[in-house]
Amino acid sequence: MHWANSRILPNINERYQITGFTNLLQDSTSKKLSITDKLTTLPNRRSFEDVLEREIKLSYRHGTAIALAILDVDFFKLYNDTYGHPQGDKALRDVANCIIGCLRRPSDFAFRIGGEEFAIIITEQDAAKAQAFLDRIREEVEALHIPHEKSTISDYVTISIGAYWSAGNQISDKNELYTEADKALYLAKNNRNELVVHNHQSYVKSA
Ligand code: GH3
Ligand code: MG
Ligand code: MG
Repeated sequence: MHWANSRILPNINERYQITGFTNLLQDSTSKKLSITDKLTTLPNRRSFEDVLEREIKLSYRHGTAIALAILDVDFFKLYNDTYGHPQGDKALRDVANCIIGCLRRPSDFAFRIGGEEFAIIITEQDAAKAQAFLDRIREEVEALHIPHEKSTISDYVTISIGAYWSAGNQISDKNELYTEADKALYLAKNNRNELVVHNHQSYVKSA
């Protein structure tokens, strides 16, 4: 299979009438492969860094909301130890497909950013809606009913999610947003199969 960029240009005659079209195809296979994760077909970490940088700049400039979520499979080392690495790969693919299936808006982006870690960038969505969306993903993953007999939190494979929601003009640095989401994930891992969302407001309140 090959990936290509397509540009369609009109063919114009001497009376400036369109007589047809020319489709220019430019092979972009190597670029596409370099930003795609082979196992899950999701965009990879490199793509994540680029998109996060772009989206946080847009959000800061326009004052639009942005949320970053980090999703991490619970007890996944135990899963591999119990069912074997190939079965672990299959579980990761199933989780990835579940995440992809939950995405409804063109402004939501999902990535595989590491072994059993995924990220979602949600733009222009209020905090309550972003939270509800992420919690549904958490539920849907558990509802896949991938057996995980060694998990102490569920009979099935589950994920924990840490997220940070920003109104848009609070954070302009992608590393800062990532660090905040990671702190929330750390708290979610206290219980596992849990979603923790922080935002600027909640820090102000708790201070
Ligand atoms: P926690 O609930 O705290 O997240 O525990 P955990 O076991 O999920 O976390 P840990 O970081 O200890 O282990 C992650 C495991 O994910 C270890 C590694 O073997 C597995 N893993 C990472 N990438 C892959 C992969 O591509 N395929 C498979 N099958 N396993 C992977
Ligand atoms: Mg991890
Ligand atoms: Mg894990």
